[in-house]
Amino acid sequence: MTCKGICSRYKAQKPVGTGRYASGQRRCQICEIFIKWEGLWCPCCGYRLRTKPRNLKYKAKLRARVEAEAQEAIAVQPNIEVAEEVAATKVKRTRKTKAAIEVETGAQEAISIKA
Ligand SMILES: [Zn+2]
Ligand SMILES: [Zn+2]
Repeated sequence: MTCKGICSRYKAQKPVGTGRYASGQRRCQICEIFIKWEGLWCPCCGYRLRTKPRNLKYKAKLRARVEAEAQEAIAVQPNIEVAEEVAATKVKRTRKTKAAIEVETGAQEAISIKA
């Protein structure tokens, strides 16, 4: 299951005023692309497509909305997709940090073995 480049033909443009999933776009995790495709499986790599945002993202979106309502600052969120992407970036960062900590811990263990 690898990207063969076919998916670029189905590449979906970022919708204005709505989410990608809300407008019927599907996400392939393997190709790392949003495509306009009716099927459940990626026409390119054959992997199962995502039709809904991940739980974590959804929760982040929900939380953002609740906070906005509480503050009564923003009546309408202009682009929820931005919040989704911010959440995704945060997740990636957290993973990287975790890996960095593991590396550091490993280095420290190596040092204590030497000592
Ligand atoms: Zn692909
Ligand atoms: Zn794919």
